[in-house]
Amino acid sequence: MEKRIVILGGGESGVGAAILANKLGFDTFLSDFGKISDKYKQMLDAHSIHWEETQHTESLILNAQEIIKSPGIPNDAPMIEKAREAGIPIISEIEFAGRYTKAKMVCITGSNGKTTTTSLIYHIFREAGLNVGLAGNIGSSLALQVAEGDKDYYIVELSSFQLDNMYEFHANVAVLLNITPDHLDRYDHKMQNYVDAKLRILQNQKPEDAFVYWKEDPIIQKELPKYNHGKLYPFAEKKSTGLAAYTEEHSIIFTEPTPFNMELEELSLTGKHNLYNSMAAGISANVAGIRKETIREALSSFKGVEHRLEKVAVIDGVEYINDSKATNVNSCWYALQSMKTKTVLILGGKDKGNDYTEIANLVREKCSALIFMGADNSKLHTFFDSFGLPTADAKSAKECVQAAKKMAKEGETVLLSPCCASFDLFKSYEDRGRQFKEAVLELKTI
Ligand code: ADP
Repeated sequence: MEKRIVILGGGESGVGAAILANKLGFDTFLSDFGKISDKYKQMLDAHSIHWEETQHTESLILNAQEIIKSPGIPNDAPMIEKAREAGIPIISEIEFAGRYTKAKMVCITGSNGKTTTTSLIYHIFREAGLNVGLAGNIGSSLALQVAEGDKDYYIVELSSFQLDNMYEFHANVAVLLNITPDHLDRYDHKMQNYVDAKLRILQNQKPEDAFVYWKEDPIIQKELPKYNHGKLYPFAEKKSTGLAAYTEEHSIIFTEPTPFNMELEELSLTGKHNLYNSMAAGISANVAGIRKETIREALSSFKGVEHRLEKVAVIDGVEYINDSKATNVNSCWYALQSMKTKTVLILGGKDKGNDYTEIANLVREKCSALIFMGADNSKLHTFFDSFGLPTADAKSAKECVQAAKKMAKEGETVLLSPCCASFDLFKSYEDRGRQFKEAVLELKTI
């Protein structure tokens, strides 16, 4: 009898895993405790894969030889606990797909900057004419791409949840951008558990592999001696020995494997955080042997990613920027830090236990007004009212843009960088960003 593989979760990653498992001839079954979208049902049906939704039927799941768990399902979900008690190995989709490809894996993780850096690396590899796929949290799943025709390289964004269920997988190039507290609710509120999950990016690395990381991050510095890893390619803003990239005067200096310089002005992405992201991407491409001219060109032609410091429009001399993806205080810090003019900052939403002290000085220095956009803005008022800045409350994107138009003076910037999740007023951070952009573009036509 063929090996039975059960996939839990019927989203992008689960459905891709099911299609690959089915193609490989495994007895495949997919179960989702919620509803599966029509698109994914059709994909499963087109491959004659058995599935169920709104329930987990134990007798169809606990007879599996292996379970592939989607990253959205917590480790303490009842079905996962039962599977564990039954001794069934539980793996992630990336772990599964990784077994069936010989492609080189460039894997990116960190608390902030993953999507930007992953997209940037993918852009450079494409510009270099390589046969490359984009996978992980973005694009189509790794498993689906492996099933539908393999690539030579995959650029894979890995969240800590994906890393949790990876065991044999190995990254040829591992990139670790930074580690700051996030998602602690899924790690027993223990920072060390989250840190351990992030460092799993290094597991199984061999000496000929590469580890690209931000040298100035205190947590990475402290953890690194505990792990085996490939050749180290650290980067930092300030020059010191052994760095694979740093800045000097107005340039980034890449030192190895191929040394080359690039003017900071030529980088398409702005802000200190994007300097780090650009360094990480440039080193990864350099390690893969891409020509320095191509790396330089690609780092300056990259168009950026939606909802990350995305320029929306300039209206009446005021620039509007959508940074809706800034769902924690640290990412808003980087956004504010990159502002070159006085800024009307829009923040608020579903607070994840935020401490705004981190941005207090920057708000004092850079902001001319604050707009609070959340179902409950009381915590924001308590913290910021004493700063003496003009404030306004808004309960929709439209209201907040109207308020911003009134408050922003010519030459200033309006920045949506909310520090918070979006679920109180919007479906998602994408929905928040799109509604904001629509409301801004409507100003043009008034
Ligand atoms: P992720 O995929 O890790 O959530 P994104 O690339 O989507 O990260 O960026 C999310 C937000 O985090 C951005 O809007 C930006 O404000 C901030 N950010 C991006 N890169 C970094 C970085 N290297 N360090 C700190 N903050 C960053």
